[in-house]
Amino acid sequence: MSFASQSFSPEIVRALTECGYEKLTPIQQQAIPHARRGHDILANAQTGTGKTAAFSLPIIQQICDNPKQRSRFNVRALILAPTRELAAQIAKNIEDYTKFVSINVAAIYGGTKMASQEKKLEQGLDILVATPGRLLEHMELNNVSLANLEFLVFDEADRMLDMGFISDIRMIMNDIRTQPQTMLFSATFSSQMNKLSNEILRKPKRISVSPENATAETVAHVVYPVDDDRKRELLSELIGKKNWQQVLVFVNYKETANELVKELKLDGIKAVLCHGDKAQSARRRALDEFKEGKARVMVATEVAARGLDIQGLPHVVNYDMPFLAEDYVHRIGRTGRAGQQGHAVSFVSRDEELTLVQVEKLIRQRIRRIQLAGYEPANRDALLHKMHTKSAFKDRRGRTNNPTDQSDAERRARLRRAVLNKSKITKLKK
Ligand code: AMP
Repeated sequence: MSFASQSFSPEIVRALTECGYEKLTPIQQQAIPHARRGHDILANAQTGTGKTAAFSLPIIQQICDNPKQRSRFNVRALILAPTRELAAQIAKNIEDYTKFVSINVAAIYGGTKMASQEKKLEQGLDILVATPGRLLEHMELNNVSLANLEFLVFDEADRMLDMGFISDIRMIMNDIRTQPQTMLFSATFSSQMNKLSNEILRKPKRISVSPENATAETVAHVVYPVDDDRKRELLSELIGKKNWQQVLVFVNYKETANELVKELKLDGIKAVLCHGDKAQSARRRALDEFKEGKARVMVATEVAARGLDIQGLPHVVNYDMPFLAEDYVHRIGRTGRAGQQGHAVSFVSRDEELTLVQVEKLIRQRIRRIQLAGYEPANRDALLHKMHTKSAFKDRRGRTNNPTDQSDAERRARLRRAVLNKSKITKLKK
């Protein structure tokens, strides 16, 4: 099915052709006709399926069909995304799609200056892509008005809930008085997600490109049972022996990421880092080097890598198993994209076996185990002994997965307290 057959205007079709899009992906085939008719949408779709175009093209076309004078701080369409990278990437895609039409778009997210974002907001925007925390900050300062909002999108909604954005989302929703056409995209569904979608969607059209909580069919999953302290060697060996050229490696801790990159370099494997302590510009540089093939490996923590678009990525390695089984689905969403075969490799130590079982349940698939000679895990008694004696294991319990997010959460909590205090003061004054 071609984009022209969906009655997109020739300027949009031309921009899509320049992006290399010829046919609609399955999620686009399902979502676009409903979205063009103004329906709310509840979509079960993973990263890499073409969901950004699925929700943004109908919005772009509707804005083109109904042009309006821009007014200060006013926003016509709001797209909420969980991370800075994803917000920036969505805005970039929309810029590409709107190259030949007069639509303006901006992304606002934490970690960059408020003032430059305020300037963008002041001119009035057709489309605003934002992370919830930073949007609330601008709302507090009256830098943005959602009074005339016509379109609202929640992208990677499950991730927003996981990151604790639910109260921010509620506060944002409180400020929306119109009934915007609302679309919610999520790779996984939980009871909390169902509750949220019941609250914000009106008679949504439900669409799904794969069974709930399943991973792309084009991904081959394998598990290497191995002890924690042998994982580094195993990774170098697999990269070398199997001649993997582009490998995204997920770890749970920034410290692990730092050490691993150093060790890989010692093994002569060029690796770059992507985690929350790295400045936005450094992360982008790392990603560029990785994409261009200047670095063979990118070692990333979950949140930092969220939403990064790395097309045709052949290998994703879970160096540590994620804490939540759902995160497995997100991580490996980086491979097997756009119909290409992907390879999802997990290193599973004995204390990660439970997560593996949960992952298999979630993806409804048993994952093939490959026991590489020389890397057999030590027996359980040895592990228990190690857990009780090694301080690193004890410390690990107290650590959080991503201190950056924790500080974001603290910042948001502070902001919420400020908002509450402000409303109390206003009430008292009355
Ligand atoms: P997304 O799921 O939106 O992150 O998209 C995944 C990748 O597929 C991105 O690199 C898009 O540019 C690309 N893409 C989206 N729609 C199409 C299409 N119809 N044809 C070819 N590539 C597409």
